[in-house]
Amino acid sequence: MATVFPFSAIVGQDEMKLALLIAAVDPKVGGVLAFGDRGAGKSTAVRALAALLPKMKVVVGCRYNCDPDLPKAFCDECREKEKHGKLKTAQVPVPVVDLPLGATEDRVVGALDLERALARGEKAFEPGLLARAHRGFLYIDEANLLEDHLVDLLLDVAASGENVVEREGLSIRHPARFVLVGTGNPEEGELRPQLLDRFGMSVEVKTPDDLPSRMEVVRRRDAFESDPAAFLAAWTKEEAKLRKKITQARERLPEVTVSDAALERAATLCMRLGTDGLRGELTLMRAARALAAIEHAKHVTDEHLKKIAPSALRHRLRRNPLDDAGSTVRVDRAIVEVFG
Ligand SMILES: [Zn+2]
Repeated sequence: MATVFPFSAIVGQDEMKLALLIAAVDPKVGGVLAFGDRGAGKSTAVRALAALLPKMKVVVGCRYNCDPDLPKAFCDECREKEKHGKLKTAQVPVPVVDLPLGATEDRVVGALDLERALARGEKAFEPGLLARAHRGFLYIDEANLLEDHLVDLLLDVAASGENVVEREGLSIRHPARFVLVGTGNPEEGELRPQLLDRFGMSVEVKTPDDLPSRMEVVRRRDAFESDPAAFLAAWTKEEAKLRKKITQARERLPEVTVSDAALERAATLCMRLGTDGLRGELTLMRAARALAAIEHAKHVTDEHLKKIAPSALRHRLRRNPLDDAGSTVRVDRAIVEVFG
């Protein structure tokens, strides 16, 4: 496996890093959509986060990354194997699977294994990218350029957590739950509202515009590329600290409470902004709860809501012909109105 730049060594990009951490603590928050400058390290950050996360336990030989501790969610193959004795398990890194723009549907959902069909006359299923991404991250660079039929397909799977393939005489279903991470360039084609809505959070990624940060980015990148092993060694401690933070936040998450007052603030903010449906406040509440868990808080406070509201809401605003302010400005303004 190629050496991955450590997450904690990424300079700046605080909003993106926080959104990714929140998605790692509570995948239910939904994916992260990163808008902005090319080459600002969006892909690096996702890979770095996955490499940082505690390894996951899988059933050895399972092509769907089944979790041995969740027999109810087993794929058919594991279910069958389980009848013949105890399943072997292993620890593997959390996967980051790239979904290339030109990918065929077969490659994404999986298809009939033609080689086996022709050679042995067997109808076997060759799993696709969705199977590989299960329990990890599905990364789509330039999600705004994704073809509509792939968008629909992803929406279905993201909603159900299951990939269902019924064709060529095959009938396969397997779990496919992943955190969707997409990048987009707002100038190159718009994302359909349904896809936008599916992302829990959106972040604006910019190349740092202050001198010291830019110098530090270059310094660290150069050190990493000159001697990756030494660079990783120098950051081991920081990485371990952050890993512990994520693990502890995951454990604390179920105990973090959201008061009616906090929920009312979240809903008021969404009403003020006119976000569609209820996904806005649901995501805002979940993201604030994960943030509270990360910050060792027992309850969600106004500060948590304020901090995460731009990421949770800015991609859910309807265009207002009377207001040409950017969506971040509109969210910031509403925060001041609601929270004072
Ligand atoms: Zn399995």
